[in-house]
Amino acid sequence: MPAANLPATLLEFLRPRLPEMLSVLRKFVVAESPSLEKSSADRCCGVIAAEWRKRGARVERIAQKHRGDHLRVVVGPQASRADGQLLVLGHYDTVYASGTLAKMPFRVSGGKAYGPGTFDMKAGIVQALFALEALQKGASLRKRVVFLWTSDEEIGSDSSRKLLEGEARRSAAVFVLEPSFGSRGLLKTARKGVGEAQIIVHGRASHAGLAPEEGVNAVHEMARQIVRLEQWNDMRRGISVNVDVIEGGTRVNVIAERARAVVDLRALREADVRRLEKRLRALRPVTRGAHLEVHANFNRAPMERKVSAALFARAKSLASQMGLTLGECVAGGGSDGNLTAALGVPTLDGLGAVGDGAHSAREYVVTRTMPSRSALLAALLAAS
Ligand SMILES: [Zn+2]
Repeated sequence: MPAANLPATLLEFLRPRLPEMLSVLRKFVVAESPSLEKSSADRCCGVIAAEWRKRGARVERIAQKHRGDHLRVVVGPQASRADGQLLVLGHYDTVYASGTLAKMPFRVSGGKAYGPGTFDMKAGIVQALFALEALQKGASLRKRVVFLWTSDEEIGSDSSRKLLEGEARRSAAVFVLEPSFGSRGLLKTARKGVGEAQIIVHGRASHAGLAPEEGVNAVHEMARQIVRLEQWNDMRRGISVNVDVIEGGTRVNVIAERARAVVDLRALREADVRRLEKRLRALRPVTRGAHLEVHANFNRAPMERKVSAALFARAKSLASQMGLTLGECVAGGGSDGNLTAALGVPTLDGLGAVGDGAHSAREYVVTRTMPSRSALLAALLAAS
C-alpha cells in the first residue's frame, strides 16, 4: 500500500468489504451471548475466535469458571521485536437473554443492521477484525497489538478486570470499541465514574395504633435522607445521585423497623467522587433512635478528558485524511475504558459502531459507517 495517505488507502480497501463485514456480524449476533449464560457465551466466544484464527492471528482462549471465556488475540511483531504494545478492548457479552433473537432477529434493512448486541458491541469486534485485514495488506505495525474480547462488561467486569488492567499497564494506548454516540458517531473522550450506595435505616417496630410513641419509623427516616441526597445533584458539574430502589416496612399497622435504598452515583471528576464518598460516610440520622448503615462503592472511576486528549487529536487528524469529521462527547455511562483510564494509560473510547438503541429492542448499526470506522481503527494502530 502506498503510505502517502494511508488512512484513505485503508478506507478504499475496506469500503467494498461491507457485505463480508455484515455476514460476519450476522454470525456474531446469531450466536447469542448473555453475560449470565456461560454455555451460550462460550459458543459465541468460539465463533469469534474462529474468525480471528482464520486471519492468522494468535488467539488464546482464557477459560472462566462462571462467565464466558475471554479471548486474547495478538497480532504484529513478536514481543521481542515490537516497540511496545497497544490494546484494543471490547466485550462480546450482551444484556439480552437467550431466545431474544426470536423477537428481535438479525436483519439488515434501510441501511441499518438490527439485532441484539449489534451496536453494543459486536459490530465493533467486526470492525476490528477487518481493520486487521486491511493492515495485513501492507501497513506495518510498529507495536504489537493485543485485542481483548471479554464476556462480562455488561455486569461490571468482575472476571475480566484483572486481565484487562494487566494488559493496559503494558500498553502505550488503549482503544475501546464501545459504541460511539449519536448519528455523527462522536467518540467518548470522558466518561462519568459510576458508583452504587446502599443505605439501610434501622428503626424500632411498634403497634401503630396502641403504642406509636414507642416506634422509630425507618421509612420516615429514609424519606428525609432521600430529600438530602437529592440535593447533591449538580448537572453542571456532572454529578448525579439517584435513589432508584427503595423498600421498607412490613404491614400497615406496624411502624416500619427497617428501610433500604439503593442509590446510583455518577461523577465526572475524581475529586467529586471522593466528595460524594465523604458525604455518604457523614450521613447522620435525623430521627431520634434511628440508625443508619451506609455502604458505598465506585466500581468505575471517572475517565477524565486529559487521558483521551492526545489520542483524540490523532484520531481526528487521521479521520480528516479520509475526508471525515470526528467529534467527541462526554458519556454518562461507564465502560472498561474507565478502568484503563484510571491507571493513567491513554484511552480513547467510543471507537466502535455508529448507531443507536443500545440495550433496547430497536438497537441498530448504521452499516455504511462500518468500513470507515474500521479504517480509522487500522490507521490509529498503524500510527501509534
Ligand atoms: Zn458495551
